[in-house]
Order: sequence, then C-alpha cells, then structure tokens
Amino acid sequence: MASPTIHSKLPKVGTTIFTKMSMLAAEYKAINLGQGFPDFMMNPDLIALVNKSMQDGNNQYVHMNGLLSLRERLAEKMADLYDANIHPDSEITITPGGTYAIYTALTTVLRPGDEVIVFEPAYDSYIPNIIINGAIPVLIPLSFPSYSINWQLVKESITSKTKMIVLNSPNNPTGSVLSSYDIEQLRSVVKNTGIFILSDEVYEHLIFDDLRHETMLRYPDLLERSFVCFSFGKTYHCTGWKLGYCVAPQPLMNEFRKVHQFNCFSSHSPVQFALSEFVQQKEQYLQLGKTIQQKRDYFQSLMQQTKFTALPSHGSYFQLYRYEGLSEEKDMDLSVRITKQYGVATIPVSAFYTGQKDDRVIRFCFAKKQTTLEEAVNRLIKCG
Ligand code: PMP
Ligand code: GLN
Repeated sequence: MASPTIHSKLPKVGTTIFTKMSMLAAEYKAINLGQGFPDFMMNPDLIALVNKSMQDGNNQYVHMNGLLSLRERLAEKMADLYDANIHPDSEITITPGGTYAIYTALTTVLRPGDEVIVFEPAYDSYIPNIIINGAIPVLIPLSFPSYSINWQLVKESITSKTKMIVLNSPNNPTGSVLSSYDIEQLRSVVKNTGIFILSDEVYEHLIFDDLRHETMLRYPDLLERSFVCFSFGKTYHCTGWKLGYCVAPQPLMNEFRKVHQFNCFSSHSPVQFALSEFVQQKEQYLQLGKTIQQKRDYFQSLMQQTKFTALPSHGSYFQLYRYEGLSEEKDMDLSVRITKQYGVATIPVSAFYTGQKDDRVIRFCFAKKQTTLEEAVNRLIKCG
C-alpha cells in the first residue's frame, strides 16, 4: 500500500546543540554550563503574583495581542529607558517567547528568494527560520576574536534582493555588544533602502561594564523598519515560562499580528497579569546587569586556574573561552570529552556556524550559583 513520503523542509537541520549537550550532561551527571539558563531561584514575589493571578481566576484567553495593561507598562518602560515613543495598543504584541517573536517577524516579511543578512556565529534559530520561508541567508562572519561587525563586508553583501538584516545584541554566543559606531554604520547601510531589521534584544538588561544597550528603540529612523524582540524569560530568570514580546511600528505590527493570530492567537494569561504588576518594579531589571556581571567576573577569576583563556564578554549569559594551551581537538570533540571525562558540559562555538567554522572556542554559561561555578571550575582545573 502506498504511504506518504515526507520531504523535509529543513533537510540539513538536526536536534539543536543545546538539547544535545543538555542530554549528554544529564547522561553523565555533568554540571551543565552549556545550555543558557540560570540554576538559581527566580524572584519568589513573581511566582506569588502568578499564583495569585491564577487563584483570582485570570485563566482564560487575554486579548490576542496581549494583556493591554502589560503592554501599557512595557510602553512606559521603553519610554523611560530608551526615550522611545511606543504605542501600547498598536505597536507591542505579547508572544510565547522570544524565539516565537523572531520566527513570526521573519515569516511576516520574507518571501521566497529574499536575501537576509545574518552574522555568524548566529543564534541557532535564525537560519532555519529564514530557510523555511524560502528565503536565502547571506552569511557574514563576525571578525574573530573581537566578534565585531565588518561593515565593509555588509556593504558589499547588499543586493537588490536584500530584505532584512538580523542583529543580536548583547550577542549569543559571543557576549559582544553593538556600539554607537555600529549604529552609525547600520544607519548609513539601510538609509533610503527597503531593508527591514530584525533585532533580537532578549539580553537587553544583561549588559556589563556600564555599556549602554544600543537598542533600535532609541533611533526612530531604525525603528521605523524594525521588529525588536524581547524575552521575559531572560529578564526574570524564568526561561521555561516562554513569554516575550515584539515591538514594531504599526504597519509592520499589523502584518505581524496576521501571522500571529493563526499560529498562537494569545499567550499565557496568568503570567501576563502578574507581569503587568511586576514590571513596575524598576530595580528588578535595573540591577540585573550588575548582578550577572559579578557572576561573569567571579567565573573569570576562577577560570584563571585552568588552561582555558577568556575572550571578552560584555553581555548575555555567556563567555567564550579558547583552549589552545590544552588541546588541539575540534571544539565539538573537546566539549563532548570534557562532559564525559570531567563532568562539565559546554557548547562548541562551531555549532553557531553553518559551515562549522572551528576557531577552537567553547561557550560557557556563567548564570549559575556561586557553588555551581566553583564546582565546575574545580573539575575544569583537571582538564588536560
Ligand atoms: N534569542 C537569543 C539570542 C537567545 O539566546 C534566546 C534564548 N533561548 C532567545 C532568542 C529565545 O528566547 P525565548 O526563550 O524567550 O524563546
Ligand atoms: N538560548 C539558550 C542558549 O543559547 C537556549 C535555548 C534553547 O535551548 N533553544 O543556550
């Protein structure tokens, strides 16, 4: 009997490196400094607010664009932090996580044959999201080892088919951040073009060394062509809650919502009621950069006892380390070996390159309890 044959829309895609390394960590009972999630407790007050919200009966659908009072609070926050004039009703949509917001923005804009500029190493979802829409990722390597953008290469890569540029600052996996120079360059590249911007800013508050977060929200000429994506999971240490939002000007957001309403329709309601209160507590996000920076600094000081060499991290949960004094193995082989042999899981940076470019660098997530970092480094000291 004939049976249906499925022709993969993503033939080159396997299981994500984060899942693979987390499964390996579980199998070998390794300390997981691979996948990006905190192992410390989130704020119990937010848990209490969600609990109360459920008890109060906020358990049915909210508006498809998200609870209006939450969007109003977010608009106030963006005005306060970035001097941005965002209309809560027409320019913000609450989504089930940042990943979903990114996918929806790409799907809203892209048609087959469109070109999208993506910088590598790239967060793993961008390229499959582009390909599934029939569009073409145009890959530009960040300059190694600073992981900065080579704007000359960007200018040379623009064609009449360029539809979008994907940005991610603070950057996963590199911890690099956009500077005011990058913004100037970006402005000159997109000026008088029809190019859209997808700006993944899920780590907006995880920025260190008193650097300023260069969000598209600060620049009306960039914002008019941008979809800016955020995640509550990163801001409130609850990555498993999968709630985020997208900000875009009304004409772009109208189209975004057409895609959104038939995919998810509306996002988890009790958490939205809780967040509409909790986002008013400014200190919760204003102190975040400092708190996570202390973890970066502590981890970095402990790591000096090992043969790994730190590359700078100015933001995110992550820091990259070179290991040339330790091994000549491929980064993937080293990551797997130290998980199995020494009990610490990491992420090989080649996994963020389509061509598996291997600069012999691995990524550590330092958003962990002090004791976790200490125990991990005690194990890494033994690595040879
Ligand atoms: N973008 C980047 C760069 C990330 O690291 C993450 C974290 N997984 C996301 C987007 C997605 O966030 P969320 O978990 O809210 O989907
Ligand atoms: N963003 C997280 C990381 O980079 C993981 C999220 C996921 O597993 N997709 O580790």
